[in-house]
Amino acid sequence: MNTIIDVQHLKKSFGKNEVLKDINLTVDKGEVVTIIGSSGSGKSTLLRCINLLEKPTDGKILYKEENVLEKGYSLPNYRTHLGMVFQQFNLFNNMNVLENCLSGQLTVLKRSKEEAREIAIKNLENVGMARYIDAKPSQLSGGQKQRVAIARALSMNPDVMLFDEPTSALDPEMVGEVLATMKNLAHTGLTMIVVTHEMAFAKEVSDRVIFMDKGVIAEEGTPEDIFVHPKEARTKEFLHRVL
Ligand code: ADP
Ligand code: MG
Repeated sequence: MNTIIDVQHLKKSFGKNEVLKDINLTVDKGEVVTIIGSSGSGKSTLLRCINLLEKPTDGKILYKEENVLEKGYSLPNYRTHLGMVFQQFNLFNNMNVLENCLSGQLTVLKRSKEEAREIAIKNLENVGMARYIDAKPSQLSGGQKQRVAIARALSMNPDVMLFDEPTSALDPEMVGEVLATMKNLAHTGLTMIVVTHEMAFAKEVSDRVIFMDKGVIAEEGTPEDIFVHPKEARTKEFLHRVL
């Protein structure tokens, strides 16, 4: 089996507000899955449940066939297999670019400084940021910060990369460079789950598109299924609004 992540009957409530209602989703190795949907439909909560930044109320999350919600499962270990890129970059502002890409490798993965540096620089090269290793985040543009955040996540050699609207905090002129970086990654065979409102990106890069509405997966399919032949009225309505 090539399935890496298998979400089964996932539910999440905040108090009485049920934000995720019976979500079922599998992600195979090398797949690029994009999640689209209106604000408030539960996209971020789903990503945050997958990497356990939020604790699901019910359901299972299988990582390579093991339920990570089972008592005794090593969560720190699980988290190192998932890389996360946030809307707001979340770089360590007191560290320079290189240090940002080293810290997790040194503290969590216990790599030697030499090895960590080599891996960090390789990943910074991949995102076109190797020239900036001494810069502090405050000296970088939003697009550059986001590319460093991607390099930092990649430096942990994750099995799956999760992106939560990585371009929505950027000035319009920065969006393209980040999307181009993500497109390159998708072509390297990296497994990616991407929440995005960049419909052209979703259409071009996804193997599968998931449309969420009010806490459920209302429809999923190939980019062609969703963007050209949507079946559900609410998918059509959403696309009509955003395209
Ligand atoms: P999306 O990412 O699709 O915009 P979210 O997953 O952020 O949607 O939010 C879905 C719903 O969950 C919203 O109604 C939001 O107010 C609620 N929600 C998200 N996080 C929390 C939280 N930590 N506490 C309470 N409610 C939350
Ligand atoms: Mg969100």
